[in-house]
Amino acid sequence: MRFDIITIFPEMLAGFFSGGVVKKALEKGLLEISVHDLRDYTHDKHKQVDDRPFGGGEGMVLKPEPIFESVEAVRKNKRSRVYLLSPQGIRLDSALARKLSRVPQVILICGRYEGVDERVGRHLVDGEISIGDYVLTGGEPAAWVVMDAVSRFIPGVVGKGESVRRDSFFDGLLDFPHYTRPRDFQGMKVPQVLFSGNHAKISDWRRRKALAKTRDVRPDLLAKKKLAPGGRKLLESAPRKGKDHEPD
Ligand code: SAM
Repeated sequence: MRFDIITIFPEMLAGFFSGGVVKKALEKGLLEISVHDLRDYTHDKHKQVDDRPFGGGEGMVLKPEPIFESVEAVRKNKRSRVYLLSPQGIRLDSALARKLSRVPQVILICGRYEGVDERVGRHLVDGEISIGDYVLTGGEPAAWVVMDAVSRFIPGVVGKGESVRRDSFFDGLLDFPHYTRPRDFQGMKVPQVLFSGNHAKISDWRRRKALAKTRDVRPDLLAKKKLAPGGRKLLESAPRKGKDHEPD
């Protein structure tokens, strides 16, 4: 799949390509990313992308003309989707990231200053995406987050894809705890069950831990999840947060 990012600070996105699984995905051709400078779509001497708000007030607003023109220039076909990054958008979650990973081209518009002329949100884009209930100084960190979360769902980007399916949120639960060497770190021991070699027991332990953590930390997720009788039983057997640690 392909991302096109429209921004007035293209250099801010450079770090995204420079390492990790994203770099490998780009090298393998699983992912294509193009960053576009909004100023290249202006036609005046000063390359002006913003202006004062009508009605008065502090701060500048990104003008509609260069944004409409840039989207027009980079849009590949009818299946391309265009999103404005905005704190007023729908909240990015795992389901949306997965859905976007099936779109051949996602165009992300990064706002700045007081935001973007309202006509962009109303007449140009397919939607607005927020990465959380707080306000950033610009859309670039949000573009980074969206690209990262979406890329993980592109087949081949993260290992064999199994780890993605086991990660938090995929099946509506948080992930189970992970441990590695040493077995005993300053008296903090790895749970004994993980050395048992009994795969069914390990799998039950992991499921119980995932269920309990979700119940204790994100009860909203658990409320939405339909648990099979086996899952309910495992959950009932897990002590609540603040109680003694479950015997390992
Ligand atoms: N006046 C706007 C408001 O209160 O809704 C905030 C504008 S913000 C300072 C500038 C730009 O940062 C926005 O246009 C948007 O592109 C980006 N931005 C800020 N917070 C964001 C968030 N939570 N999710 C996605 N983008 C965000």
